[in-house]
Amino acid sequence: EDLSDSEFPDFSELGDIEELGSSLGNPRKEVDPQGPWKWKQEADAPTPMERFHLRCLWVSDLSTQSWCEQQMVYGKELPGFQSAEKAAVLDAGSSAHLARELELHDLVNIHTSTKEDAWAVKLLNVLTMVPILQSGGTIREFPVFGEIEGVFLVGVIDELHYTSKGELELVELKTRKRAMMPVEAQKEKDRFQVSLYKCIFDAMVRGQVTSASLVHHMKLSPEVLLGPQVHSHAQQGGFTVKSFRDLLELTFLSLNLSDLPVIDALKIEYSHQETDTVLGMEMVVFEEKQVRDKLRHHLGYWTGLREPQGVDVKEAWKCRMCDYAAICEWRQSGGMRTLSQEQRAKKMT
Ligand code: SF4
Repeated sequence: EDLSDSEFPDFSELGDIEELGSSLGNPRKEVDPQGPWKWKQEADAPTPMERFHLRCLWVSDLSTQSWCEQQMVYGKELPGFQSAEKAAVLDAGSSAHLARELELHDLVNIHTSTKEDAWAVKLLNVLTMVPILQSGGTIREFPVFGEIEGVFLVGVIDELHYTSKGELELVELKTRKRAMMPVEAQKEKDRFQVSLYKCIFDAMVRGQVTSASLVHHMKLSPEVLLGPQVHSHAQQGGFTVKSFRDLLELTFLSLNLSDLPVIDALKIEYSHQETDTVLGMEMVVFEEKQVRDKLRHHLGYWTGLREPQGVDVKEAWKCRMCDYAAICEWRQSGGMRTLSQEQRAKKMT
């Protein structure tokens, strides 16, 4: 699922920052000093969350956003644009995750016909995995969800286990097409992703995520009866539930009484996709303030406080491996969209 190494440039070929800046296009020719990006959020204009009909944000989207926000937006607006090569890398990454998951438990196909059923499956996974973790076992593909900084975030933790020192450790698996460790920018994106998982998981076990918040953000109807396949799966797991409300109550009771610790350690494991050999590990230092500041900045786009931004000039090398480089307005404008009119005029003289 790690896409960044597919056409990774040789840094020695890139030249200096000035040269990189000019590779973003010629702003003198292409940018109207009056616009076209005078950012003004109209009172009744939909926010990106509304425009994309999103009730929650996936942690993976936020981590993609931290690589290049504009690229993440193009990915949402033009989903068919992704190159076949990158799609293949993604598929192979998913297969690696699936293989790991199957090492610990079987997968069961459950038909869901309502959004409550889809959430019920997540909740049943939580209900099943919490006792395993309580008894010191290892769990994989643990769903996490909760309101953080006013927005409902959803994700899946690859693995949670206890270390020999008794610390609860999160492991994130990253597969790579090339047999080499990623560069710093990729590691930074991955650190942000696992740090967000910790924020959400910790909030869940501290009782800061409530069923009311889940119902409110996801617009769920607690009174809905579970579909036949979900109901039978719950029964097989020993859970006596009929409605979505029953399952909500059971799950949040289980989480609140579980006495699970917060995550102590964050580890990212990079492995080579083709040979399945481990390339290296990265231990992540959790810096809550920086993570929350970065999250708030990202959410500023989603909640309509600002327009999307592309990469900084010093990270223009990312554009060379981007599927959207040929159509990217940010790149063509020389990255001037976030500048004020006065700053733009100054830059153009
Ligand atoms: Fe981002 Fe560059 Fe791609 Fe534009 S071309 S979306 S700025 S990486």
